[in-house]
Formats: sequence, structure tokens, C-alpha cells
Amino acid sequence: MIEKERGIPDYISKLEALIRRIPDTEPGREKAISELRKRRAGYKGEQKLDYYLSFLDEKEYKIFHGLRLLNGKYYFQIDTLVLTKKYAIIIEVKNWNGTIIFEPDFHQLIRILNDKEEAFHDPLSQAEHQQRQFKKWLRTNGYPDLPIEYAVVISSPSTIIKSPYKQISDKVLHAHRLISKISSVEKTNPVERLNEKEVKKISKTLLKKHVPHKADILKLFNINHQTLLTGVHCPKCSALPMIFHWGKWHCSSCKAISTTAHHQALQDYFHLIKPRITSKEFREFTHVSSLNAATRLLSNMGIPFEGERSKRIYHKNPEL
Ligand SMILES: [Zn+2]
Repeated sequence: MIEKERGIPDYISKLEALIRRIPDTEPGREKAISELRKRRAGYKGEQKLDYYLSFLDEKEYKIFHGLRLLNGKYYFQIDTLVLTKKYAIIIEVKNWNGTIIFEPDFHQLIRILNDKEEAFHDPLSQAEHQQRQFKKWLRTNGYPDLPIEYAVVISSPSTIIKSPYKQISDKVLHAHRLISKISSVEKTNPVERLNEKEVKKISKTLLKKHVPHKADILKLFNINHQTLLTGVHCPKCSALPMIFHWGKWHCSSCKAISTTAHHQALQDYFHLIKPRITSKEFREFTHVSSLNAATRLLSNMGIPFEGERSKRIYHKNPEL
């Protein structure tokens, strides 16, 4: 059973907002576009895994996507965790195309794509690190010791995997081999170490202790928020800014009319600037001149708020 779904990563939504709002002349723009391309491909790769995981018995296997947990001072992140009564498997998903060569002596991975060589961190060391961290996490939270296996899954079936050591094929595999990998882990770990209740308890704690990553994207890309484009985008042709008139948004480019075009602008504000906004800030950002109109637009969105009418602060929905 999927205990924790894989939502669109916050980082991807933030990059999309940034690209909508960053002027063409800003040096960070190209970097943000290429970063978004990479992240989207990674996310697609992770989604490919779901097809294979759907063959697992829902009762026996608890699946968690994108967990981020704290161990002492540091967070660790697990792409996918499969938890059973007998063992747990940490799955690290990699979206590499071309040919990948493992160099275990240097804990490095070389990727060759279109005659270009690029070095990456060895994903096996990464997965081993998560294995150690998860073991420690279980111990710290008072749970019994559990065998923890790991696998690095290469999401693209056409990627060629090379290594001087044959044993690597036990840990690094294409997505279609995942189920047979899980079966072999099952065979080597036949003993039930947790009962139903304990598995449920661990699941609950994992969900409770998961801390979503909130990146400050402007800081990461070294962009001043004053350089961002303001206004409401046209949902049809993306032109900026739409004009608010008599309760509706009007596009001067394609003449489209919308009543909800400000929703995305508000999300962009939350993603890029801060997770709360006042009516005044909303008016500046969306170019709405009337205070009453701005307050009405904000109140009608049903988002959480605090304070009295004129001084009200509206908050980003925590689940968005
Ligand atoms: Zn338009």
C-alpha cells in the first residue's frame, strides 16, 4: 500500500514559478531552465518505478515516496522506501541516459552521453549512507533492528550499465528488475521481525516525522525579488499583465477573460517571495488598484488567514 504518495516536488513548482517571473535578461534564467529540465526528467524517472511497485501485495508492502527525515542535526532523504514485517528496502532512483561506468575504487560514476564524459557521486555510497541513516533513525525512535537492503534503480531501460565488478549487478538494476530484486531480498530475509502493529506504528511515525524540503529558490539562484516580473499571467497565452476590471481579468494580448487568473500569481508569490501575503502586497504583485477588490479576491480563495480585515495576513495552504 502506498503510505506516502510522490507529489510534484516543491522544488519543481518553485522553478516553474521562477521561470515565469524572471526577466529574459537575468543571468540566472538559463540555469533555472536547465535545472527544471533535469528535475522534471528525474521526477518522470521516479514515476516509472510506480508501475513495477504496483505489482506488490498491498497488504505486505508499505511504500513511502520522498521521505525526508531528521537524524540529530542532519536530514536524510529516501527516494522510495519499501517496508515489510521482515525487512526494509531503500530505493535510490537515477535518471541517467547513455552509458554509466561504476568505478568502485574511487566511489565515482562516469556517465558518457553524446561523447561527453561527466562524473557523478557514486549512488551506491549514497544508498549506503541512507541505509546507515535509516538504521539509526529506527534505533533513535525506539524501533527494533530490521535488515535494511538498498537498490539503485536506473529508470531508463536503454541506459548501459558497466562495472569492473560483477557484484554490482545485485545492487544496481533497471526498473524492470525491481520485483525480482525484492523477491530475492524476501528469500534471504524470511523471518518476521515486526508484527502488524509495529509496522503500523513505524508507518505513522515516518509520516509524522517527514519534513518537506522548502528551498529558498531566489537565494539559490542569487536573484533579488525586486527584479521579478509582477502582474497576473494570461492563462491562455501567458501574456503579462492582465488588467483587472469589474471582477474579471482581461488579457490585452489575446482578449481572453478569466475570473481565476490571480490564483497562479498568488502561488508564484508564495513559492518565490514568502508563504504569506497582505492585501497591500497582493495589490502590488497583481496590479489590482482597489483595496476592496483585492480583499474580496483573497477572501474568496478560502486560504487560511489571521488578523482583522484590513490588517489580515493570508497564508499559503500548508499542503500546497
Ligand atoms: Zn492572453
